Amino acid sequence: MEALAVRAGTKPDLSAIGQALAILGDRWVLLILQRAFLLKVRTYAGWRDELRISESVLASRLKELVGHGIFELAAYRDGGRTRMEYRLTERGLSLWVLLVAIYSWERDWTARPLPTLIHLGCGKEARPYLACRPCGDRLSARETSAERGPLATVASIGLPRQHRRTVVRGEVATDLIGYCPDSMEILGDRWSTTVLATAFLGTRRFVDFQAELGIAPSVLTDRLRRFVELSVFVCGDDGEYRLTPKGLGFFEVFAFLVGWAQRELTAPPGSELTITHGPCGSSLAPVLLCSGCGAALERREVRFLI
Ligand SMILES: [Zn+2]
Ligand SMILES: [Zn+2]
Repeated sequence: MEALAVRAGTKPDLSAIGQALAILGDRWVLLILQRAFLLKVRTYAGWRDELRISESVLASRLKELVGHGIFELAAYRDGGRTRMEYRLTERGLSLWVLLVAIYSWERDWTARPLPTLIHLGCGKEARPYLACRPCGDRLSARETSAERGPLATVASIGLPRQHRRTVVRGEVATDLIGYCPDSMEILGDRWSTTVLATAFLGTRRFVDFQAELGIAPSVLTDRLRRFVELSVFVCGDDGEYRLTPKGLGFFEVFAFLVGWAQRELTAPPGSELTITHGPCGSSLAPVLLCSGCGAALERREVRFLI
C-alpha cells in the first residue's frame, strides 16, 4: 500500500485518519472508553475509582473527548440534587466496533485469558472476524490497496508533551476487563499508532518511516524495537521492517479506525485515503461477523461475560 501522511495533533488541516490517531491513540482514552462501554461508567468519580488515574489526567482526557464530540455532558437527578454525567454521543457509540476489534485481535494473537464474547443474535460464543460488507468475504490487509488524495502529503508530527507514553499502573494492567495490553502498546501511544499506520500503508525502511513521520530517530528506534519484541514486525537481513501475521492481523483494528475517521471527522479536500478491497473492488466498508452464525455483529447484540 502507498504511504500516506499521518500527523498527530488535532488541527483542522489534518487528514481524517491523522485526527483519529491523535484522538484515540492514547491508552487512557482507550481505557476510559472501554469502561464506558463495558461497565457503563458515566461519572468522573466512576473512572477515577475504576482506573486509579490521576485527577488531572482524567480531567484533561474527558475534556478532550467532550471537545471531539465523543462524550456529551448531561445533567441527571440524583435524589434531590442535579449532577452531571458523561454520555457517549452517537459518534462515541459508533466506536464500539473498534473496541470489539481490539478484543478480537488480542483473542487471536495473545495467550492471555480474556472475557468471553456472546453474540445475542445466535446465543453462541463469537470469535469475531473482519469481513468486507459489500461482498461478505473475509477481509485481510494483503487483499487491500490504498490510494491517497493529492494533498495527503507527508508532514512532521508535533506531539504535545502531555501525550508522551504513559505508564499504566500494575493493578489495571492485570485486570481482566479487556485491558488488552498488547493493543495498548500499539494503539495507546500516538507515535506507535502512527508508525503502525504507516507500515500498513507500505513503509518498511527506517529512513522512510523517519521521512514520512518526521519522528526523532531515538523515538523511532524505541517503537520499532517494541514492535519486534511484540512480534508485530520482523526485521529482515535487509534492514526492512515487515509486518508479521500478528501485525497484519491488526489491520482488523486499523480498518475500523479508518472507517470511523472517514465517517465522523472532517478532513480537508484532497487528504482522503481510499482503501479498496481487491477481490470485489469496493471501497473499504469493514464489518465484524460472528464466527457462530456468520451474521454481522451489531452493538446491542454483543455481550462480554466478565
Ligand atoms: Zn469485498
Ligand atoms: Zn452469532
